[in-house]
This record gives sequence, C-alpha cells and structure tokens, in this order.
Amino acid sequence: MATASPTIPSEQSPLSTLRELLPLVGLTGGIGSGKTAVSDLLGQMGAGIIDTDLIAHQITAPGGIAIPLIQAKFGPEFIEPNGALDRAKMRTLVFGSPDARESLEEITHPLIRQETLKQAKELADTGVPYLVFVVPLLIESGSWAGQVDYLVVVDCPEETQIQRVMQRSKLSRTEVEGILNAQASRQQRLRLANAVIENQGSLAELKLAVEQLHQKILGIKKA
Ligand code: ATP
Repeated sequence: MATASPTIPSEQSPLSTLRELLPLVGLTGGIGSGKTAVSDLLGQMGAGIIDTDLIAHQITAPGGIAIPLIQAKFGPEFIEPNGALDRAKMRTLVFGSPDARESLEEITHPLIRQETLKQAKELADTGVPYLVFVVPLLIESGSWAGQVDYLVVVDCPEETQIQRVMQRSKLSRTEVEGILNAQASRQQRLRLANAVIENQGSLAELKLAVEQLHQKILGIKKA
C-alpha cells in the first residue's frame, strides 16, 4: 500500500478527498481535437467542468494573479499594454528555450493547480454527478493520469486538427505542425484512454457520442 510521500504536493490531497465523493474524469486530446466542444456538451448534460486551459488564460489575463510574477521573471516586454501576458512573444520564447518554459511553468503550474482545486470543490458542492478536468497536456504532465478515475481522449486525424486550428487562429500550417510535434502523439494518448471520442464527423455525430459517454460515466460506481 502506498504511504504518504513528502514529494506529493499538499495541494493534491483535496483532489483525493473529492475522488471519494464523486467520479473524477480527465479529458484530453491534441490541439484542435475538440476538447472544448466535448466539455461544453458534457457541461450541458450536467457535468461539472474545470477547464485548466481557461484557468491558465485567466491567470495571465489583465489583472491575473500570474502577471506580476511573470513580469518580475521575464521583464515588462512580455506584458502587453493592457496588462495581459504577450502570448505570442512568450510562445516563441518557450518553444526555443526549455529553461524559459520551466521558469514559466514554475510560476503558472502552482497557480493553475490552486484554482483548479478551488473550482472542483465549488462544483462538487453544487451536487454535480461527476467532475471533468479538461487538461490539454494531461498525458505529457505525468501527474494527472493517476488522479482521475476515467480518462477520455478526444481524437481526430492530424490533418483535421491542422485545418481546424488554422481556421480558428492566425497560426500558419508550420506553426500548428510545430505545436503538434511538441505534444504527445495520438498513439501515446490512445494507449492510456478509458474512452475515445472520435471527432472527425459532424457536430451532431459528436453530440451522440458524448451522450453515450455521459451515460457511461454516470454508471461509474464509487467504492
Ligand atoms: P485547443 O486545443 O486549441 O484548445 P480544442 O481541442 O479545445 O482546441 P475545440 O476548440 O473544441 O478544440 O475545436 C477546435 C475548432 O474546431 C473549434 O473552432 C470548433 O468549433 C471546431 N470543431 C470541433 N469539433 C468539430 C466538428 N466535429 N465539426 C466541425 N467543427 C468542429
């Protein structure tokens, strides 16, 4: 049996407490695969959604709690005049520098974790049947997979991902391919999945698949 380890961050223990009360679902997938589309649908069906990407944006938006720390570490040139993180500039920096990425994550990860737990507790208190944690880099992060009861992967061909992201953003094909190559491969994600949502058809087809997923998760019994 595992014993308490000093290497486990204390912020994680409330998640294991929540896990005793209701199913915890991890939702991941590559860029543009359709994580938000799936989590929006699950939310409409009654699930409690915690979107860690949204939280990451909120803490780096104007007035966000990470902004003063990022400014102190990287300099004022990484902060836009409106007080938000200059995402394009930071993206360029961290893609070229693992050290810079690590420094940024040392600032943002604890704040994201803190806010994630806060939202999870608040949602659990509202009586939702289960919680869904949307974590784009769940597979890459290592620490998440062991903390959820059920892992859902949203999947589609890479070409579909590229087309969707190019359509939605100002990123070029090369930039999107760069992001894809930096993420876990489809195979790595699919290996760990308890359920896979294929999202290469219409939004109507996606809704049907998500309805089935919702029913399956409602069937998860807590000990
Ligand atoms: P990211 O990793 O960039 O946050 P994501 O995985 O959350 O992306 P979404 O934002 O849900 O993906 O979807 C990416 C884009 O593709 C959005 O514009 C969304 O409306 C569109 N999209 C998602 N699924 C479908 C679908 N089945 N049919 C058509 N468009 C879709």
